Amino acid sequence: MVTRSISVLGATGSIGLSTLDVVRRHPDRFSVYALTASTRAEELAVLCREFRPKVAVMADPEAADVLSKLLADLPETRVLGGLEGLCEVASTPGVDTVMAAIVGAAGLSPTLSAVRAGKRVLLANKEALVMSGKLFMDAVAEAGAELLPIDSEHNAIFQCMPADKVRDPAGAGITRILLTASGGPFREHSAEDLRSVTPAQACAHPNWSMGQKISVDSATLMNKGLELIEACWLFNTTPQKVEVHVHPESIIHSMVEYADGSVLAQLGSPDMRTPIANGLAWPERIDAGAPPLDLFAIGRFHFERPDLVRFPCLRLAAEAFEAGGTAPAVLNAANEVAVAAFLEGSLCFSDIPVIIERTLAVTAVEPADNFDVIFAKDKEARACAREQIGLLTV
Ligand code: NAD
Ligand code: MG
Repeated sequence: MVTRSISVLGATGSIGLSTLDVVRRHPDRFSVYALTASTRAEELAVLCREFRPKVAVMADPEAADVLSKLLADLPETRVLGGLEGLCEVASTPGVDTVMAAIVGAAGLSPTLSAVRAGKRVLLANKEALVMSGKLFMDAVAEAGAELLPIDSEHNAIFQCMPADKVRDPAGAGITRILLTASGGPFREHSAEDLRSVTPAQACAHPNWSMGQKISVDSATLMNKGLELIEACWLFNTTPQKVEVHVHPESIIHSMVEYADGSVLAQLGSPDMRTPIANGLAWPERIDAGAPPLDLFAIGRFHFERPDLVRFPCLRLAAEAFEAGGTAPAVLNAANEVAVAAFLEGSLCFSDIPVIIERTLAVTAVEPADNFDVIFAKDKEARACAREQIGLLTV
């Protein structure tokens, strides 16, 4: 068996820790080349002591100094700091698999470095693909990188497709993708009740334990909006061929409909270690540590249509994809700023879509010709979203 050498970008996060839990179960299959984190050096130091990576990177240079001191007795682990360090461990020849699990736009450059170096890229960082869409997929094709979806829905869709037709669903006789959504913790809240929900309530997801940002996205349905865009790029399709099904049990992770009426689904316990193990070992299958599915205990499945009036973020995402060019990058940036403001208590939950819609309305759509345009738009949209928040709260 060939041992795969892995860099885990965002090792201290929810996906990063789940990845390391799968890796821990298969010491003969995987070796950890690098672990990275943002600011919390103590947490990364603990992981370094267990996994003994060749390189550890803190995105924050000051945190890198702290990590160096913490790991002074571990000379085999080289400590780097900053974006350059992240990009280096994503692209170095010593690595063949990169888990892209940094949250938000901050993950785009390192993920792109891995893509351009032709790695197997396990994509959890959906924001990177949403922001740069076609440019990202063109870079994958150009470098011959192997892009495997880790988002549970996209991993499910991937598993329900013939492996050689992932970019040609029509050619495989696929008529529709049924993208499932849990509906989030506020699925049954009235519009009025949504105004007063707190960050703690938004982060308490009924089925999944996740980082704060994606938990809020899941509560606003922006997560499904980002995933709709992600599905269109990954599977080379259009929003008209992707139908969101709210399925509160989160057991069916998505489905693919074929011309003959067959609908293939992937099911499993809501545990990210399953799609992570699928990506790490693909095309083989390995133990993920996830509990076996007990359908008798679950009993029933339910399905409903998403409510775009109470949850406008899904509509905004579909519109941004249709607008094309830099619009999805603006959507993503405005969402990141609005979610951060909600989490720090300076924006109410129902105003998250308001800020995004206003930012989209006043930021010109430009052709997404190159990554510099994307990064510039991201910056412009963030400034604009902050301004909109200021206008709302005066
Ligand atoms: P998280 O907040 O738990 O972890 C984020 C990780 O990114 C941490 O290791 C953090 O140190 C690092 N990070 C944060 N800001 C950074 C920066 N500026 N530069 C470098 N590193 C930085 O997030 P998560 O829930 O693990 O999500 C990670 C990604 O995976 C997101 O894009 C999310 O949408 C996606 N995803 C997560 C889940 C899930 O179940 N958690 C499911 C599907 C997709
Ligand atoms: Mg998902």
